[in-house]
Amino acid sequence: MPEGDSIVRLAHRLRPIMQGKVLQNTDFRTPRLAALDLENWLVEDIVTTGKYLSMNVQAPSPTRLVNDSLVVLSHLGMDGSWQVDARPTHHTRCIFTFTDHQVLGFSLASLDVLPYDITQERLARLGPDILDIGWQDPVTAETLVAQVLKNFRQTVDQHIATALLDQRLVAGIGNIYRCEVLLLARIHPYRMLSELTDDQLTGLIKLCHELMTLNIPPIADEQTRRSTVDIRSDPSASFGIRIANATERARARADRRHRRNAPAYWVYGRQREGCLRCGQQIRTDVLGTDPITKRNITWCPNCQRD
Ligand SMILES: [Zn+2]
Repeated sequence: MPEGDSIVRLAHRLRPIMQGKVLQNTDFRTPRLAALDLENWLVEDIVTTGKYLSMNVQAPSPTRLVNDSLVVLSHLGMDGSWQVDARPTHHTRCIFTFTDHQVLGFSLASLDVLPYDITQERLARLGPDILDIGWQDPVTAETLVAQVLKNFRQTVDQHIATALLDQRLVAGIGNIYRCEVLLLARIHPYRMLSELTDDQLTGLIKLCHELMTLNIPPIADEQTRRSTVDIRSDPSASFGIRIANATERARARADRRHRRNAPAYWVYGRQREGCLRCGQQIRTDVLGTDPITKRNITWCPNCQRD
């Protein structure tokens, strides 16, 4: 299942192709939407909320329609994708044709076309977006962190690893980042929310935001391989680490480009190699009960003591 940074990168790729363009034809291949025709509608913008992608479309004017602002709202789920000028298959859920390109949705976990207001109501059920544009403003960023902390404190007590994946508490974090931030913070995934301090919880959220920001524009483009390893030791910082500065990152990324098997993660997917921090054999387990949060958790028993 994609992480929030994948959706931001996807939106970044689709914007030059779709934004400000008029749909020449739409072909929805799901029974529920089969009768819908958005010919001549304008794609106003493409925005992301957690793992949801919203394509905001406007009716051609003048219009007699009640809802002249609609949103094509999609979630990729495990295997979904949006592709440009691809060949349709039996997994194709919709085809949007513009004068110069086609944009096709494949195997989408959800695809809805809803009035703008209804979409906002639905997205409001999510927790704060870990990649919300508001993070760029320090005051708004503090408000977002405070809201996530409040959500953590008000929900039923549970493992921190499960809470990080619950999109109602904080939106956009997936399995990779939850494994990585818990390793970097040296917090065992089975620690309960109630056992962690406010500083630990807010530190985890800030670290997750910082790591994900390294993997979206303007810092990373579509070609940049996702990684979480641009970290430096800093005894005065939260968890004793800081994000590498721009010069350090440029040097490290150039180095990784030249080494084919350069590690990109500390613990995620390293069942064979072991923990990147200490070399110890890592452990893996299935954690969570509902389909959204039931995923393989990976951790290092040496770095993350009980
Ligand atoms: Zn370790």
